[in-house]
Amino acid sequence: SLSDKLQSTMSMLRGKGKLSEKDIDAAMREVKLALLEADVNFKVVKDFIKTVKERSLGSEVMDSLTPGQQVIKIVNEELTALMGTGEAKIDYSKKPTIIMMCGLQGAGKTTTSAKLANLMKKNGKRPLLVACDVYRPAAIKQLQVVGESVDVPVFTMGDKISPVDIAKASVEHAKKNGNDVVLIDTAGRLHIDENLMEELIAIDSALSPSEILLVLDAMTGQDAVNVAESFDQRLKLTGVVLTKLDGDARGGAALSIRAVTNVPIKFTAMGEKLDQIEVFHPDRMASRILGMGDVLSLIEKAQSAVDEQKAIELEKKLRTQSFTLEDFLDQLEQMKNLGPIEDILGMLPGMNNKMLKGVNVDEKEFAKLEAIIKSMTTAERQKPDIIDVSRRKRIAEGSGTSPVEVNKLLKQFKDLRKMMKQFGGMGKTGKKKKFKM
Ligand code: GDP
Ligand code: MG
Repeated sequence: SLSDKLQSTMSMLRGKGKLSEKDIDAAMREVKLALLEADVNFKVVKDFIKTVKERSLGSEVMDSLTPGQQVIKIVNEELTALMGTGEAKIDYSKKPTIIMMCGLQGAGKTTTSAKLANLMKKNGKRPLLVACDVYRPAAIKQLQVVGESVDVPVFTMGDKISPVDIAKASVEHAKKNGNDVVLIDTAGRLHIDENLMEELIAIDSALSPSEILLVLDAMTGQDAVNVAESFDQRLKLTGVVLTKLDGDARGGAALSIRAVTNVPIKFTAMGEKLDQIEVFHPDRMASRILGMGDVLSLIEKAQSAVDEQKAIELEKKLRTQSFTLEDFLDQLEQMKNLGPIEDILGMLPGMNNKMLKGVNVDEKEFAKLEAIIKSMTTAERQKPDIIDVSRRKRIAEGSGTSPVEVNKLLKQFKDLRKMMKQFGGMGKTGKKKKFKM
């Protein structure tokens, strides 16, 4: 996969103390092949390599980084830049905010409409889903089913009325019922065709939606980019939702779409479940493609205090779940100088602040945690499950704390491990959850 290829190239560079132009050329050849194989647009690849090479040879020498790290950093930055400049937000300025979903059949429009409605509802919006696919049998029913499972109302007028009229009526309905977002699920076709385009253009002219989001199946690679170009020529797209990134997608689409069409990716979907959608962050995607999580920023932040190899080992341990209380202690010690542990953990892939709530480590408590862990036997540190009432009492006495405090630490550690499991699938060879690029 693209990640694997880039990763091996990047780790080849990682060990280098000094890079010659020849080293950079060799690395760039590998990166180029990896990108082309991942179905990234040829011109995009060419420009990318040129920029990275120029920057690598250029004068941006930083004392804190080895040349190898510098190239990794540049590749990461340029991958990010390819996919946009930060988070592309939905424009909610108009009330109601009308969002037209479009795309080919099977791309995931209906599913994604419900996912977005779900996401928006969680953010305090009152969305309305609108069934404008009047062609495909059972399309209306499908929207009703997914709408119901996310508990969002679905507006339908059956399949005998034109999509434009349904869309118009839905906006009136939304105004009357206090819905501040109207999500219009339109019909798709197997291929781009003129009837489809005209219908979408008609809805666009009638409603002037705030957003026209194109739903694209990431598995279709370069085709997705072509579809994006065609749609964008006829409708002024405001964003793309890239679906099925949980599958065997080669990643080319994510990397080329923005560069080729200048339309930002706004969301990504990674599964059929209705909560499997995320706001798109170019930097995170770049890091994932590089397969190093945010280990890059970890490297940077940790430069002075923790050595790079250890940071990488930590990440590996977290991913493979072989993380023990001993490692926990080790990390706590290393991170003393780095600021709050949740900041450090927050840089790892798949983590967000909410997940970190349970493992909040107050720095003032640090000494206490250290004492508790140090009072454990090796066996206890490696298999905390064996810690029963009497062991807990002994540890508490040994560390000058209380059994309640020992318990609290064990719970934090277990929460941390559980959390690791939730995102652990990402870096392993587990089939379903694997994020493959
Ligand atoms: P539409 O024709 O564009 O409305 O597409 P649907 O929403 O009906 O989705 C087509 C199929 O793709 C359905 O089986 C969905 O469950 C599936 N699907 C949608 N999004 C994703 C995704 O992100 N990952 C996976 N694996 N399947 C998805
Ligand atoms: Mg549909």
